Amino acid sequence: MATIDNYNFAGKKAIVRVDFNVPLNEDGTISDDTRIRGALPTLKKILADGGSLILMSHMGKPKGKVNEKLSLSQIREAVAKALGAEVKFAPDCAKAQEAAKDLKPGEVLLLENLRFYPEEEGKPVGIDKNDPAYEDAKKEMKKSQKEFAKTLASYADVYVNDAFGTAHRKHASTAVIADYFDANDKMLGYLMEKEVQAVDNILKDIKRPFTAIMGGSKVSTKIGIIENLMDKVDNLILCGGMTYTFAKAQGGNVGNSICENDKLDLALDIMKKAKEKGVNLVLGTDCVAADAFSNDANTQICSVMDIPEGWEGLDAGPDSIAAFREAILPAKTILWNGPAGVFEIEKFTTGSRAIAEAIVEATDNGAFSLVGGGDSVACVNKFGLADSVSYVSTGGGALLEAIEGKVLPGIAAIKGE
Ligand code: AMP
Repeated sequence: MATIDNYNFAGKKAIVRVDFNVPLNEDGTISDDTRIRGALPTLKKILADGGSLILMSHMGKPKGKVNEKLSLSQIREAVAKALGAEVKFAPDCAKAQEAAKDLKPGEVLLLENLRFYPEEEGKPVGIDKNDPAYEDAKKEMKKSQKEFAKTLASYADVYVNDAFGTAHRKHASTAVIADYFDANDKMLGYLMEKEVQAVDNILKDIKRPFTAIMGGSKVSTKIGIIENLMDKVDNLILCGGMTYTFAKAQGGNVGNSICENDKLDLALDIMKKAKEKGVNLVLGTDCVAADAFSNDANTQICSVMDIPEGWEGLDAGPDSIAAFREAILPAKTILWNGPAGVFEIEKFTTGSRAIAEAIVEATDNGAFSLVGGGDSVACVNKFGLADSVSYVSTGGGALLEAIEGKVLPGIAAIKGE
């Protein structure tokens, strides 16, 4: 199989799916260029070999229509600066044949937002799912999606996918396009390779003990991952808002804490399964309860089983933190997804900070640690610890689906799995 390292791009035109869906300020300037920087190793390798680049990406959700506010022309200069090369712009991504044909080695062409065309996502627009004509519209759209992908493919000799953030989508540019290249002329970019390796470390090459920390607001959104991890981990820490669903399921009074009353049986089932599989399930026992969802709230430490009426658990308490540390410090593989409290409010960051610090300590002692999923990434960034863990994933939904054990279409399209 071709890899970015063993492929010689000299004289070749490479079409690269990047994730340039960067956040913009009101005035159209970029507020965080992490994603552009993330793609640079792949892009620079291709240019250094003597290849030319056709860059394609989506930005935001234009829903199949042209929307100037989401035009990639706004980031052209920033990409040029990051690459140290002039970047030409194709204002219509499906009509860039001429511009692509004229590209010379070392030159770069950026295509306009792929999602200005509904074919990119392949979903029919302007027709309700319940409409009897929907299924036919969907079939038609799948056909035009293939045509759209074929057009994009026609611009280039080789296809590289380096957009992990959209790897869980079967879109024209992330998966369908791969059908129009030989196995030797399609590959993952460096960023994708790193993400795939990180997920493999967690799911395949596990060094034990393996501790997974799942937090966030709800158990319902994490159940797929929890179930998949149950067969793999030695320690499973469940923290954050889901603590209170478990406490209530066991007969506790959780006051005003966030609690999914329709998931109490599910919580008990998770506890039973952990026992059956010999997984050490670590649930918070105490919490920081507050009388308001704000930094000015009054707080008290109390048992998660006995939270006074009118108070809500918004962070992990000291006993819980000690138990979390005990399960994290000896670990050799660590996965963290989801905060242990409402970390956006300064007063309730203690639990999440303690988890991040314990992960850093374990990493210093040789553990492989993967932090992924929007909010835990925001946590390590907030605490200035992003460089002190082994890997911070760039993928939200894609990472979670990979950890659930799902095959990602963007990766399968290239690896043929
Ligand atoms: P998720 O998107 O499910 O990973 O959840 C992340 C959100 O969970 C963050 O915005 C946190 O503020 C929130 N969260 C964590 N702990 C709690 C809690 N005890 N009560 C309410 N929200 C929480």
